[in-house]
Amino acid sequence: MTLTFPQAQIDEDAREAGRLLFAGETDFLKGVVAMDGMPPADRLEVCFAGRSNVGKSTLINALTGRKALARASNTPGRTQEINFFTCGDSHYLVDLPGYGFAKAPVRTVEKWQRLMKSYLSGRATLRRVFVLIDGRHGAKDVDEEIMTLLDKSAVTFQAVITKVDKPGAAELEESLQRTRAMLARHPAAFPEIVITSSDKGMGIDTLRGIIATLD
Ligand code: GDP
Repeated sequence: MTLTFPQAQIDEDAREAGRLLFAGETDFLKGVVAMDGMPPADRLEVCFAGRSNVGKSTLINALTGRKALARASNTPGRTQEINFFTCGDSHYLVDLPGYGFAKAPVRTVEKWQRLMKSYLSGRATLRRVFVLIDGRHGAKDVDEEIMTLLDKSAVTFQAVITKVDKPGAAELEESLQRTRAMLARHPAAFPEIVITSSDKGMGIDTLRGIIATLD
């Protein structure tokens, strides 16, 4: 696939560090609905955010090499949990509840916003938020809402394009353009984009390497 926009670059050492990190045990630790349920902030943490159906569970499963580690349980109205996974002894991977349900009740949305605000501003070990963007659509208004929240919380975030095996080349270029333009408006955005397909195993090693070399 030839893209005008390049994949985020990592070197061979980072690739190897990523391979080693994710070759270790990854396990579901717990799901929490409030700050006081969170595990101790005693190791490096990254989290994954994105609209429901963006491919977040599939990406976490692809990263960890475990088919059913993260499940799609983002049904509107259900308890929205922040799920913690251990990755070796050194990292937490955190799966944030999906957002952007057209029909979500106002109370659910408000609860989500409160939990996100306290998590994003209250977690000292959180090093990076990966904001997942569907390769067919590019970044949408609801993605911009979370980007604004991330700017306010001063947490660095990086866009991860998902399902890039689905759109045609022109469609993908357009959604990458739109995403780039949005990132340029957000001071907390990391400039490089990670381009992935969980189905084709594309960009997974890059993302592993990025996670393994954060400090
Ligand atoms: P979540 O709600 O963000 O956790 O989304 P899921 O991981 O459940 O994925 C939503 C849908 O997109 C499912 O039908 C997946 O099979 C599909 N999907 C996820 N990743 C990919 C991908 O890389 N390529 C393709 N073609 N489909 C994907």
